[in-house]
Amino acid sequence: MNLQWYPGHMTKAKRQMQEDLKLIDLIIELVDARIPLSSRNPDIDELGKNKARLILLNKSDLADERYNEQWSAYFQKKGFYVVKVNAKSGAGLKSIQGVIQEACKAKIERDRRRGIKNRPIRAMVVGIPNVGKSTFINSYAGKACAKTGNKPGVTKGKQWIRLNKTLELLDTPGILWPKFEDQEVGKRLAFIGSIKDEILNLEELSLELLDYIRTNYPGLLNTRYGIKEEGTPVSLLEAVADKRKCLIRGQEIDYAKAAGIVMEEFRNGKIGRITLEFPPVEEETAHEDHP
Ligand code: GDP
Repeated sequence: MNLQWYPGHMTKAKRQMQEDLKLIDLIIELVDARIPLSSRNPDIDELGKNKARLILLNKSDLADERYNEQWSAYFQKKGFYVVKVNAKSGAGLKSIQGVIQEACKAKIERDRRRGIKNRPIRAMVVGIPNVGKSTFINSYAGKACAKTGNKPGVTKGKQWIRLNKTLELLDTPGILWPKFEDQEVGKRLAFIGSIKDEILNLEELSLELLDYIRTNYPGLLNTRYGIKEEGTPVSLLEAVADKRKCLIRGQEIDYAKAAGIVMEEFRNGKIGRITLEFPPVEEETAHEDHP
């Protein structure tokens, strides 16, 4: 899925989200572990300010494990509960249940004081396009879970998926839009493949990516492509083209093809586990230089 947002979309999505949020106790927000900030829309913090919050660092299999840990700590410090997951394989999903109980303990306690027993926690999944919302809902809820259908007093058409006695999930995720107005954000979304490739200059993008990987993850390009990691970004792309026999009519370098290979292999994690954005340095934890 590729991003195509217009002001009309955004207003509608926001209004829909506000309605849905009235029905729930907990927001399960998916972010892409390779770009945890660029794959968020901070509006959700305002929209969901009275809700319990769980952030899932999804696609953690594609991101650098050291930074997965740092990002978890970063969000925890901001008051979120955080779980690292791979929605596709199911890794990490088991620990979610316990964390949800913990995140919603205030609600559970409130219910108990009011004499309400066993009212399930209601949650909804939110996130920008392509972060893995549907994959998560399918793998977490599984096929075994029956939809509970409309409930009296609930907006017509809302479907709830009952996961167990204590948890119900709204079956349609809330879609957030990223901060396109920020060019760096746009670029990172392009790197991970969340912006239509047709409107991008893939060659330009691949040069930036090669340079980024060479600088931040020395050795990976050598291991994957058997190339020397020196020279200009263009010479790196030429070296990839050479190794992968990307030639037009057997002689001219096919830059577009080589760029396509680099982008595709990065997006599938074949070059390695690479994080594209590092937690902002905060006062007392300022100990590392981040690019
Ligand atoms: P949505 O637009 O947020 O609903 O995203 P989707 O659920 O359609 O997922 C987008 C793509 O990401 C699909 O190709 C999924 O297979 C893939 N995907 C989702 N979660 C993961 C994950 O944890 N790891 C990896 N490697 N791929 C994932």
